[in-house]
Amino acid sequence: MRVEDAKILEALPKLEVELRRGVSLAELTYLGIGGTTDLLRINGHESIPELLNLLDENGVAHKFLGGGSNLLVMDGELAFVVLQLGQPNPDVVIEGNIACVDAAADLGKTVTFCAKHNLGGMEGLIGVPGTVGGALRMNAGAYGTQIGSYVREVKVYRAAARKLETLKGEEISFEYRHTSFAPDDMMLAVKLELPSRPYPEILQGIRLCNEKRRASQPLGQKSAGCIFKNPPGASAGRMIDELGLKGHAVGGARISDRHANFFVNTGHASAADMLGLIADVRKRVRQVYGVTLENEVVVWNA
Ligand SMILES: Cc1cc2nc3c(=O)[nH]c(=O)nc-3n(C[C@H](O)[C@H](O)[C@H](O)COP(=O)(O)OP(=O)(O)OC[C@H]3O[C@@H](n4cnc5c(N)ncnc54)[C@H](O)[C@@H]3O)c2cc1C
Repeated sequence: MRVEDAKILEALPKLEVELRRGVSLAELTYLGIGGTTDLLRINGHESIPELLNLLDENGVAHKFLGGGSNLLVMDGELAFVVLQLGQPNPDVVIEGNIACVDAAADLGKTVTFCAKHNLGGMEGLIGVPGTVGGALRMNAGAYGTQIGSYVREVKVYRAAARKLETLKGEEISFEYRHTSFAPDDMMLAVKLELPSRPYPEILQGIRLCNEKRRASQPLGQKSAGCIFKNPPGASAGRMIDELGLKGHAVGGARISDRHANFFVNTGHASAADMLGLIADVRKRVRQVYGVTLENEVVVWNA
């Protein structure tokens, strides 16, 4: 989709929004799949309500991109524009045990920055790619840690009320890969309250988690991490592995030999290949285990 409306084009500089024409989502996502559209880079939170009003009034459909590490995007010319937060400098400020983090900040860099200030707790999240905003959306977690446990407050743009709000941590529920944020809420900044720990101790935890990840995941290949959420009390990866599906492929989309819940783009996978593989695996798992696997990957198909 292209932004053509003169009223919008004229307003963008005043709203501190930068327009990037015809970006390829294949280049902006870790799976390396996705078509083309215009991208609006938002460089100031305060103008978001006005920007969103303007887009909605003029019928410009939009979706919000973080770091692109949990997304499967359709091919071709997309029917929506993409919004993305610009990164302020600095994007993390430490105040005692509180890290004030912009949603556009890289999650891994945030974990190490906090560690250097003797603030730990998030070691398990090292190696989860993407932004802090993306991690908040789905309550990213690994190795017994989830970001939601440390959230003191979140600044959000609430599309329903069309305004910026600050929510207290206790007002938000964080569950396994699920939060109580509305689907169109936009996370803008977060205050994380982290336990004090000596840097060398945190670093040891970080190294351990990095090693575990390297040993079990296809990190050199294009993927979106786990494709399916784990069903209660079970492991989606184990089920897929038990069905002997490692290496199974549809076109250029293939189940990793290292981790059966990682589906990789071997080079030129289309969105249809990846969706075909997801549907095929879901069907086989349902037939054998009677369980319908739910996507962890977010699919942008309209
Ligand atoms: C190799 C690899 C390993 C991974 N390992 C893990 C893991 O261990 N644990 C885990 O939980 N995940 C893992 N993931 C998945 C992914 O990294 C996380 O889900 C991550 O938190 C997504 O963040 P992102 O900024 O890339 O979001 P994106 O992929 O850009 O977006 C994902 C969703 O979040 C929304 N979103 C993004 N930013 C915001 C925002 N600021 N406000 C509102 N909505 C927003 C988008 O609209 C979209 O719906 C892995 C991925 C890869 C590629």
